[in-house]
Formats: sequence, structure tokens, C-alpha cells
Amino acid sequence: MTIQQSIPAPAPPEPTSAEAPSRVTPMMEQYLEIKAANPGLLLFYRMGDFYELFFEDAELASKALGIMLTKRGKHQGVDIPMCGVPVERSDDYLHRLIEKGFRVAVCEQMEDPAAARARGNKSVVRRDVVRLVTPGTLTEDTLLDARTNNYLLAIARARGSAGADRIGLAWIDISTSEFIVTECSTGELAATLARINPNEAIVTDALYSDPDLGPLLRELPAVTPLTRDVFDGATAERRLCDYFAVATMDGLSAMSRLEATAAAAAVTYIDRTQVGKRPPLSPPSREAAGTTMAIDPATRANLELTRTLAGERRGSLLDAIDCTVTPAGSRLLAQRLAAPLTESAAIARRLDAIAVFVTDTVARDDIRTTLRAAPDMSRALARLSVGRGGPRDLAGLRDGILAADAALARLERLDDPPPEIITVMEALRQPSRELAREFERALADQLPLIKRDGGFVREGYEAALDEARNLRDASRLVVAAMQARYADETGVKGLKIRHNNVLGYFVEVTAQHGDRLMAAPLNATFIHRQTLAGQTRFTTAELGEIEAKIANAGDRALGLELEIFERLCALAMTASEALRTAAHAFAMLDVATALAKLAVDDNYVRPEVDGSLTFAIEGGRHPVVEQALKRDGQPFIANACDLSPVPPPYPPPQAGEGRVGVGQIWLITGPNMAGKSTFLRQNALIALMAQIGSFVPASRARIGIVDRLFSRVGAADDLARGRSTFMVEMVETAVILNQASERSLVILDEIGRGTATFDGLSIAWAAIEHLHESNRCRTLFATHYHELTALSAKLPRLFNATVRVKEWQGDVVFLHEVLPGSADRSYGIQVARLAGLPAPVIARAKSVLAKLEAQDRGQTARALVDDLPLFAVPSRAATEPAPPSEGEQLIEALRALHPDEMSPREALEALYALKAKLPKQ
Ligand code: ADP
Ligand code: MG
Repeated sequence: MTIQQSIPAPAPPEPTSAEAPSRVTPMMEQYLEIKAANPGLLLFYRMGDFYELFFEDAELASKALGIMLTKRGKHQGVDIPMCGVPVERSDDYLHRLIEKGFRVAVCEQMEDPAAARARGNKSVVRRDVVRLVTPGTLTEDTLLDARTNNYLLAIARARGSAGADRIGLAWIDISTSEFIVTECSTGELAATLARINPNEAIVTDALYSDPDLGPLLRELPAVTPLTRDVFDGATAERRLCDYFAVATMDGLSAMSRLEATAAAAAVTYIDRTQVGKRPPLSPPSREAAGTTMAIDPATRANLELTRTLAGERRGSLLDAIDCTVTPAGSRLLAQRLAAPLTESAAIARRLDAIAVFVTDTVARDDIRTTLRAAPDMSRALARLSVGRGGPRDLAGLRDGILAADAALARLERLDDPPPEIITVMEALRQPSRELAREFERALADQLPLIKRDGGFVREGYEAALDEARNLRDASRLVVAAMQARYADETGVKGLKIRHNNVLGYFVEVTAQHGDRLMAAPLNATFIHRQTLAGQTRFTTAELGEIEAKIANAGDRALGLELEIFERLCALAMTASEALRTAAHAFAMLDVATALAKLAVDDNYVRPEVDGSLTFAIEGGRHPVVEQALKRDGQPFIANACDLSPVPPPYPPPQAGEGRVGVGQIWLITGPNMAGKSTFLRQNALIALMAQIGSFVPASRARIGIVDRLFSRVGAADDLARGRSTFMVEMVETAVILNQASERSLVILDEIGRGTATFDGLSIAWAAIEHLHESNRCRTLFATHYHELTALSAKLPRLFNATVRVKEWQGDVVFLHEVLPGSADRSYGIQVARLAGLPAPVIARAKSVLAKLEAQDRGQTARALVDDLPLFAVPSRAATEPAPPSEGEQLIEALRALHPDEMSPREALEALYALKAKLPKQ
């Protein structure tokens, strides 16, 4: 592998075993000093073409990277473990270390080793840390995922009176310059963290070890506890002003003191990690509390918004709806999905922009073609600003401006652009066209990745550069002439002058002619350097001279190119604000056209979103399941759902009359595999999509703003993730019952399933009552406890719905149709048979079931509804229907029988069940 030492001559003084064991060599002294100044980080210590790691760092890194661990000298009499990575491949190694949770301090040689030698034999090459590489402060394309933001989050706390602490948050993506601040309560912290989804967080030591909040923070991918001074509120404003080079922050943004504290901590950390280089940031934009839908981590996971429960992007909602064509567009869509809006006007603005491209699909496709060719300007800009950019980043800005022109020309042809598109157009006009023209003039057609490779400045751009290049190239011509002359003089026709990095320029002849050149008189001119199997190599004094000339001219040309690069960079920086604005406009345009394409392709409709509490979906579908079925050529069965408030007096619920839309809580019973979970989730997703300002998979959707979305799944489903227990399920249910308000949307899927039947039934029962009476939120509740359907007799806003199946020749056929009414059985045994359980087990299960069903828990439940006074249920006797008498129950049971669809055995079992319903004599 690559671990071998390659120390350039002259080597700096090294530790050797010859020295007294307790003596520390000057180099080790320097190393230890730098290492001590950067605690908690691996130190990449530059030595020539390698970054070397020593001591424990070497042990950790060699294990993490799978590279060889070697030794280098001794320290205090003990071998020093060492490993190294080649500088030119260090990005790859850095990436892997960061992924594994390490942080790295990159220490460079700050002077030519010759300069150190000139100072004296014992002096060490000057070295300094130039950058700390942490997960939240990356800029390189190779270290970043193009489609996701990379946020650094600073979290500050202000102690309030008991339990009333406030949290200030500031998050920055230095690769795109985004900078956002907000405040929340400690109770909202989990949902806020889940929304921001930072790659690294910084907190005070105190917060890190806080018994309540610490565990929450430690679940984040990386948390760095820092000393108090970073979070010092008194100096926050000054540090921010310093970063933005302004006298006061007033003009830039309005922030609370707590937000400013977090913001200052974030910029201080960036300052430290970038060691003096300050990537330009947008002024912090403040996110007012309550402007986004609160979605806690469990709900996000459960609804599979950006990852499936298995942790993959494929199969998530984001993956299904992301038709963007640029990484910046993809990032913006992910941001919007993470934070749906709660203001109908803002939502309508986004919808207007999509509507334009739903109608005008030609404009949409033109724009998407333009966007596809537009580079990721914000990340190019960020790299240039910290001195990590290359010629291709400059070209990216040039192409971006040209793309802005093209997009603008197309947008100007739109008939009546809505406000969001007008904003986009204004933004696209901002970057200076002169800048693009300058870059066009300056940059060559083919560009190297790294500026040090040179050759990126176009011929004719700068006279001095052309001159240096001509000199270099002319000297190369001299070499060619020299080759012809030498061939003549020696009489060796095949004589060649070649170049490599070890020998520089050399004369090469085949082995058979080698002797001739080594003998008099030719040996006066040709100096032997190397003998290989087939060739012999020589230099000459003349060749050495010309080589020096070529090298000088080459160096000068490169120097001039680098100067030009810096100039162009500076030019780009003066325009960075305009370029960033344009880049953001591209992303907005990408999202609008992408969602329009999705809407047309998948037949989505524009939702009506307002301030009411309506929730009325017609022809609703699950966006992800629908796409999956479509790939298999299967249709998705659309279903309506109506959780809108019922104006009092509440009409008594009557299952089976098709009066969809009379309840705020839908209780969904139905067989296994019928589509209950799908139905629940599709309604949550439709609300969420509507509020990010997207069209939705439905034929009509009217939604009163949802301020909080909750979704929970019974324990058994979570067990598949190998982490949840009934306890977790209950903790999460508690959160809902304590927090859901009238404006919330709650999805409960088989809550209470993870315990004994009666336990579970009782908990589900009480939870429904609480949701109905206290939370009064729009709710979907799926359950196998059919007994719960009896509650609709008591709870006027509880509505029973079921998913229809057909029994056919003893099998169930799933129709996936949601209808009013309730299921009386779960068909679990039929599903078990489909799954291939052995026939004797199925037969046995059937007879056990028949016995159990004969005991009829349903009756007990109905009796309970009457006997148990519901807590806090206001008397609504007038509207309550009388419970069915035993006679009515018998008739109802008879009605539910379909003799034509029954096997003889089932008929017999039904007869027993009916008999059991008879009143005891
Ligand atoms: P349940 O929760 O009732 O056990 P699921 O919601 O998990 O059932 O659905 C089981 C499967 O049925 C889904 O994976 C999906 O393939 C299919 N399905 C569900 N709803 C529909 C529908 N409306 N149209 C077509 N297929 C559906
Ligand atoms: Mg289910």
C-alpha cells in the first residue's frame, strides 16, 4: 500500500534511537506541541508528499483506514507508531475518517525545507495547522453528498424558571452559505433537531452533560462540546459583527439575544476550523416560531419522509417525489420536505409557481433542459472563497451566469408569471454578465482539476503569460533540434531525447549503441546516467542548461496563471452575493418545474389549503405505494377521507349509510393486509405535501393548515427495526395525548398492540376517548380491536370505517376500498394461509378462533360503552342513540351472515356463535 515513507531530501532532523531516550527531537517537539493544541483531533502532519500520523492517532487511523502501521524512531525510549496517507489521495482518506466520526487537523509545511536547512542543521520545517476537518464544515465535492445539505448546528440554552428553558439554534451550510437561526422550547427540541438534521452540532459542555437534553444531543451524528466562551452571550454581537465585517448586526438581521449567541458560536467554530479563512455566509435569516409544521423524529421515521425504516433513500417519500435535475434543487426540495409551511399565503405562492408549469409543459421542459446544464454555483463559490477551488469552479460560475441568461429568456416568454417566478427572474438578472464574459475570455476550453497543473488560462488573454509559454515551448523546439543534431553526430539514428521526473531530460539509445557513446570521443559529451535492459541513458551539459531554461519558463508561466486565478477569484467574490441569489433562484425553479412534472406524470391535483380545520380528501392515493404498484402494472385504489369538523349538534353516527365525513376521528378496522396502514399514511403524506406547496396525489384535497403532525405505529411494527418496545410505543403515545391540539393531525396505527389483548384494548379505548374529548384533533386510528367500533355509539365525532375484502372460496381478496362501517374479523388466518403456514396449523387455528369468537368480546364492549361513564364526556344524552337491544344484536348478526360465501364448516360455526348470543335463560 501507500504507507511507505517518502521524505523529500533534505529530510528534517528525525528522532533516532541513537539519541538519549529522554531527549525529544526538535521535530517531535514540534509535533507534540501542535498535537497538544488540537485535542480530540487526528493530526495529519505533513512530511513531503505524505500526511503522517503518530502514536495513538496512527493506531486509530491505520485501523479505521485499513492501512499499514509502521514505526519511526523512538520517543522516550519507546517505538513511535506511525502511518501515513499520500497527499494527493488524502480527500479519499479524509472522507472515510469523517464518516467514521473522526475529526482531523491538517498540518502543512509552511516553508520550503531548504529554508529550514538554511537556518541551521537542527531547525525543523515550519508547520502549522491550516484547517480542522469536521463533519459540519466540509466544502469539497468529494467529501459531500451533492443532494443533501451539510449543516453545522450551534445550540445555546438560556435557563428559565423551572422547565421553561429556551433553546437558541443557528445552523450553517458553509458549502452553500446558508445561515438560519431560530428559537424553541426544550420540548420542541427533538422535532427541531429532526427537521434540521445537522451533520454536526456544537454545544456547551454543560448542555452536553445535561441529564434531560444530553441524550437527545448524543443521538446526533456528531456532537462537539465546547467551552463556555464560544457560547458567551455578552460577546456574541461583537463576534458576529467581526465575522461579517460590519459595525452592527442591526442592518443584517434581527435576532433574539439567544439566537445571536448560537449564531456567534457557529461562526466562531467556523473561524476556528477554517483557521482564519472566512467563507462568506448569507446574513442569518430568522425563522419565526410556528411557521413550520412540527414533526417529531418518530413521525418522520414512521412516514419514511427522507429514509425508509430500513434507512435507505430509495422507497422514501423524498425519493418518490424528487424529479429535480440539479443537486441544489434536490437540496431545496429536501429542505422544504423537512419543514412544511403553516401559512396558507406562502403555500399558495409556491403552488402558483408549480401551476404555471403544469399548464405550460413546453416551458417546463425547456427550463429543465437549461437547468440540467447549470452547475452547482453555491458550492463552487464556497470552495473558491476558502481557497479550495479550482479552474473548473470558475468555469462553473461562468456557465451558471450563461444558464441564467437562457432561463431568463425562456421565463420572459411566460404570459403572466406569478410572484414567485418574478422573484426568480429578478434574482437571475443580478449576476454581472461582464463577469461571465471576463471568465469566458480568461479560461481555456479544457480545464485541469487542480490549478497547480496550469494550462487553464486561454492563449491571448495576457501577453506576459503568452511570452513565458512561448519561451518554454521554444526551448522544447530547441530540444527537438538537439535530438536531430545528436543523432547526426553519433550516427545513431534511433537516438531520442526524453523526459521523466527522476532524470529530467536525457538522451536515450538502445543498448547496442550504448557502448559507442560511452567510449571516446563521444564520452566527452555524453555522461552515462542509467542502464536498463534495452536502453542506455545519458545527459549532456547542454541538455542540463536547456532544461533549466524550460523549467524557469514553465515556472514563470505557472506563476502567472496562478496570479490570474487569484484575480478571477477575487472578481467572483465581489459578485458572490448576486451569484448566490441566482443559484438559489435556480434551485427554486428546479423544484417548481420538478413538482410540476411529478403532478402531470402522476396525475396530482392542486390542494386547497386554508386556515380552517377541514380535512377532506377525495380520490387520495399513497404517492410511494402508487409508484411501486405502477412499476408492476398494478392499479392503486384511490380512497376518500374526511376528518372535517362536524358543526354541532353532532348528527348521530350511523355506520353503513355512506355518510363519509361526519367525524373527526376515523376508526379503521379491517383485515390484515387490507391497506389500513397505507390509507393512514397516505392522508398524512397528502397533508404534508400540500403544506410544502406541492400538488397532491388525489382528485381533490381541501386541507385546513396542520400545525403538528404525529404518527405512531404499534410496537410490533417497530420491533422490526430491532429497537422499539411497548414502552417506547407508550412514551410516544403519551407525547401525542399531551401535545396534540385541534390543529394537529394524528395517525395512530395499531396502538396498544404490543401487550396482552385486554391491556392493549383498554389503552386504545382510553386513548380514543382522550383524543375525542381533550385533544379534539383530526385523527386516523387503525386497529384490530373490533370492540372499539362500539365507541361510536358514545363519541359523536368518532366515525367507523373499514377496508373491504371479499371472501372467495375460503380465501380473502383484498379490494383496498375504504368504506363506512366496521370489520368483524381480521382474516388473520387467511393471511397466514397465504403466507404458507402448514395446513394442520391453519385448521387448528380456525377451530380455536371459532371457540374464542363464540365468547363474543364485542358484547362486553358494547356493554362497557353503556356502563363506563366516559371521563369528561359532557352529557349529550339528547343525541345519543339507545344501545341495541339483545334482539337487535341477534338480527344484526344474522344480517352480517352471507350463506352463499360460507363453507359448510363456517356455517356450522356461525350457528354456534348465534346460539351463544341468545340471552341466558
Ligand atoms: P394493513 O395495514 O391493513 O395490514 P397495508 O396498508 O400494510 O395493510 O397494505 C398491505 C399491502 O396492500 C400494501 O403493501 C400494498 O401493496 C397493498 N395496498 C394497500 N392499499 C392499497 C390500495 N389502496 N390500492 C392498492 N394496493 C394497496
Ligand atoms: Mg398495518
